Amino acid sequence: MELAKEIARRRTFAIISHPDAGKTTLTEKLLLFGGAIHTAGAVKSNKIRKSATSDFMEIEKQRGISVATSVMGFEYRGKRINILDTPGHKDFAEDTYRTLTAVDSVILVVDSMKGVEEQTERLMEVCRMRHTPVIIFINKLDREGRDPFELLDELEEKLDIQTCPMTWPISQGQNFKGVYNLFDKSLNLFEATSTKIGQKLTDIEGINDPKLADWVGTANAAKLREDVELIDGVYEPFDLELYREGMLAPVFFGSAVNNFGVHELLDTFISVAPCPHEREATERMVNASEPALSGFVFKIHANLDPNHRDRTAFFKICSGRFERNKFYQHTRLGKKLRFSNPTQFMAQEKSVIDEAWAGDVIGLYDNGSLKIGDTLTEGEALHFRGIPSFSPEIFKVLENRDPLKTKQLEKGIRQLTDEGVAQLFVQYGTRKIVGTVGELQFDVIQFRLEHEYGAQCSFMPLRFHKAFWITSDNQEQLDEFMRRRANVIALDKEEHPVFFAETEWMLKIAKEDFPEIEFHSTSEFK
Ligand code: GDP
Repeated sequence: MELAKEIARRRTFAIISHPDAGKTTLTEKLLLFGGAIHTAGAVKSNKIRKSATSDFMEIEKQRGISVATSVMGFEYRGKRINILDTPGHKDFAEDTYRTLTAVDSVILVVDSMKGVEEQTERLMEVCRMRHTPVIIFINKLDREGRDPFELLDELEEKLDIQTCPMTWPISQGQNFKGVYNLFDKSLNLFEATSTKIGQKLTDIEGINDPKLADWVGTANAAKLREDVELIDGVYEPFDLELYREGMLAPVFFGSAVNNFGVHELLDTFISVAPCPHEREATERMVNASEPALSGFVFKIHANLDPNHRDRTAFFKICSGRFERNKFYQHTRLGKKLRFSNPTQFMAQEKSVIDEAWAGDVIGLYDNGSLKIGDTLTEGEALHFRGIPSFSPEIFKVLENRDPLKTKQLEKGIRQLTDEGVAQLFVQYGTRKIVGTVGELQFDVIQFRLEHEYGAQCSFMPLRFHKAFWITSDNQEQLDEFMRRRANVIALDKEEHPVFFAETEWMLKIAKEDFPEIEFHSTSEFK
């Protein structure tokens, strides 16, 4: 059956990393292998440079780039690969978290000199929540980095995942010779090149082949034999099931900029990474191979050009086949919608498509009826789970500076928060508190409210540490808590109560005083 065949050949994933570890470089190399681009340098970094934070249009330009490369599809060995790009900038972390809800697996890039960095840990936390399978690529072996055993220990400890080395580096930095493939016992010799896509594979018969010393030198050969012995003793062989459950991460060593180790990574990726399978909706599990279409919006991008005030909603297909011009049911609004220009992205090219399959991400033209988390189906009311909001870290009260434009401000802030730019909480029925993970969003909101909605606003900072969604089986206790702490309670957009803790200490006290209340740091707790 066509549907089953199309699903089985799809691999939808994201490359994640702390900024500067090499995500953009690796993405580019993968696209080169896939023949989707032909020259290095074609993939623009979506990084927002530090100097740009005060210059909104510069941010916007960069944001534009990041949208152009939001989804990159290409064909490789009969597989359809969809790479979803994630913004590297910390202030857009929320966007990244949401993108991770739309992938079936991830490749995590780690800098061999820096090891596990702050963003790496946070991103992995999100992967763990959904048991997303992870492959790790340790990059920059052409530089003096850390000891590989030490790196694996750190990955296991800080990322709380079992690791399984698939390749092993022979020296590093200036003396980097290449990697030994622990799986098929072959040797790949390193050659510094950023353009070639092949790599020198030498014909050796395992670690005890006398030719090894000829290739890498006697001392390196001896060290490699020692290392491999240790690896065999310490690490379990690769276990597909554990990887698919998100418990075990295969690890590759290489140098993205030199195209080294990327081939093994990609080949292993297409053979082990999962195709779209099933997804949890509030109502039931939805299997990718069900013929009826279903899917959800995980990202919205608004065009800030005043002449083209359109929005693109990124829609992840969870089951079935999507067809152009067919009517689909919008679960939240309870009405039918159809799309005459759905788009798909092949490398940098955007094109209108007639159909797409479970696993794919398509762009839907939107005039304001779609928001993040919205579901489209062929009639069944489904709500996909796993698109959580995370507790913001910066909170400010939205103040209206032009009383004549109250309506515009109201509409603007609702729409921007529907797009996921920030989270909105309402206190005492009218006081609006905007929560974000980065300062940058406040600039974005202020600028967009003014330029798109004609509203003027300013922000008054609040000294909150974090927001917690609160629930309890004891309604009386919940009501009392909300009454007594009214000054630090607000409602989110779904009218769920949220408690703002001024400090960790305040949270602790609240928990002690109200033992039957649960405090959740993400909105997804049902
Ligand atoms: P991103 O922020 O994770 O997307 O990182 P980039 O791909 O933009 O890479 C950050 C910097 O590291 C760039 O200057 C790259 O040229 C460099 N880089 C990437 N891969 C390698 C590598 O294998 N070796 C070395 N020496 N530099 C690398």
